[in-house]
Amino acid sequence: MKKWTIPLFKIFGIRVELHITFFLIVLLFGISGVEEIGVGRGLPGVLFIIVVFLFVLLHEISHCVVAIKYGGKVKSIILFPFGGVAQMERIPTIPLSELKMAIAGPATNFAIAGILYLLFHPFIGIGKNNFISYLFIINLTLGTFNLLPAFPMDGGRILRAILAIRKGYYFSTKVAIKVGKILAVGMMVCGLFINPWLLFIGIFVFIGGMAEEEFFKINFILKDVFAEEICVRDFRIIPPSIPIYELIEIAKESSSEVFVVMEFEKPVGLIRRKDLPYIIQKNMPQIMVSEICDRNFISVDGKSKCEEFFSYFLNKEISWIAVYEGNRMVGIIYPESLLITTKILESLKYRF
Ligand code: ZN
Repeated sequence: MKKWTIPLFKIFGIRVELHITFFLIVLLFGISGVEEIGVGRGLPGVLFIIVVFLFVLLHEISHCVVAIKYGGKVKSIILFPFGGVAQMERIPTIPLSELKMAIAGPATNFAIAGILYLLFHPFIGIGKNNFISYLFIINLTLGTFNLLPAFPMDGGRILRAILAIRKGYYFSTKVAIKVGKILAVGMMVCGLFINPWLLFIGIFVFIGGMAEEEFFKINFILKDVFAEEICVRDFRIIPPSIPIYELIEIAKESSSEVFVVMEFEKPVGLIRRKDLPYIIQKNMPQIMVSEICDRNFISVDGKSKCEEFFSYFLNKEISWIAVYEGNRMVGIIYPESLLITTKILESLKYRF
């Protein structure tokens, strides 16, 4: 799954990334000019974008601070033009914690707007044509826009958290995603007749909602599944000391898609059939398999739940998982196998 982001920097150990749609905004501003869309007359486009970027970042950081306080773990923040998405390894799923976390972002923007008003209104007049007024309007807009009850906006999370207090997490997520989609389609239709910006925002909300739904579905399906139930058991064991050309011969007569390099009955790495052409191209045939195998893995017990595996792969922390029964390795899980199993389970058991 490609994320379409550009890594920027790290803050409090959280990776900050810029989504490429941010440049779409630069392009739109370049064409239309800031004045015409009425966001801030006279404010230079580039300065406007930098300021929006900073306030979106502050907005996201406040989400993260609350999330961390309630036991969440934040990997990265992706900045979209109208808001950011904090990628969390662990999201607080207690409704009240999620509610506080979701509110924190818009609350920060409203607080900044409030402070600007209190500090500057008596002297320069907020709402007039000056720089501070633009900052005020930007924060008010960000706060309000993010309160739209549509996933992945904070309003969608707030809606889910409120519903989840009584109706449970999964039902509430489904409802919140549906409401968000309806709202996004509404915005797109209105956008066609009223303002192209609404169309653009509608598309953004719709795509964000779809990604959220996909992620939710996968996690929902995998939450009751044990590693031993879905691991790929058809793999071929190879010793670490054989050269690549010997592996090619083994691959010719084997039907396995994966070859596990074992040393003293413990896995040390993995080679996949689909990578063989690339490996042959890049390496001398005499190179040992132990030198080129993929060692980026974790070992789990067969009775482990698969819920978090997808996040591990998505965040590129690991590229495969060795599954054990007792102290014997019985299978492996890798991103494609996990996705295929999820699709099969989805068609068998769950309907959305
Ligand atoms: Zn937010």
